[in-house]
Amino acid sequence: MISEALREIKAELPCGVDLVAVSKFHPAQAVMEAYEAGQRIFGESRVQELLAKIEVLPADIRWHFIGHLQTNKVRQLVGKVSLIESGDSVKLLRLIDTESRRIGVRSRVLLQLHVAREETKFGFYPEELMEWMQTGEFRHMDGVEICGVMGMASNTDDADRIRSDFKAIKRVYDELRETYGADLPAFCNLSMGMSHDWHIATQEGSTMVRIGTAIFGIRE
Ligand SMILES: *Cc1c(COP(=O)(O)O)cnc(C)c1O
Repeated sequence: MISEALREIKAELPCGVDLVAVSKFHPAQAVMEAYEAGQRIFGESRVQELLAKIEVLPADIRWHFIGHLQTNKVRQLVGKVSLIESGDSVKLLRLIDTESRRIGVRSRVLLQLHVAREETKFGFYPEELMEWMQTGEFRHMDGVEICGVMGMASNTDDADRIRSDFKAIKRVYDELRETYGADLPAFCNLSMGMSHDWHIATQEGSTMVRIGTAIFGIRE
């Protein structure tokens, strides 16, 4: 049961760690059940699905976009979500910036890192991200507020491997925060951890976990 699963997770989640309930592929009814149990932050990975849910669900839900964002969907998304967790390329950040300024909003974005060996092909490599930050381009992006880092561990059962991936993500986050924290007042979110690895992620310093299956069950 959704409310029961949420209770169990919240009982174990350390204080101050945000829970993003990942509702992708689950119907609006399931979101509503979690909402009625008090959940307010939800994660979606497809623009069409997200927009359809926004239409029918309560306005005080804070939506996080967590999937790879295609450039031709940016215009439809900006202004609709409270956080884009998957800022995975310079090209995408520039487009989010342009589209956000066009409609007079500032989009909150996380920089998605690529450290895992297998999982996904999207995200910045650490060196690539450091180099781009050094250019200072982000300082001129009035339409983008960089709020931290998102990352995924390798898709494996090997807990040591997962832990070392999270450590690597945390190192990059710490370095960016030390170097640019003064310029980026909202840079205080480290999103890592999913259903199977969030305990390890919070031990390694995560401030935001994205949990789908453990709340809503298996996606069809
Ligand atoms: C689907 C997804 C999740 C949730 O995964 P679960 O294993 O169902 O908890 C978290 N983060 C991202 C980026 C996802 O795409």
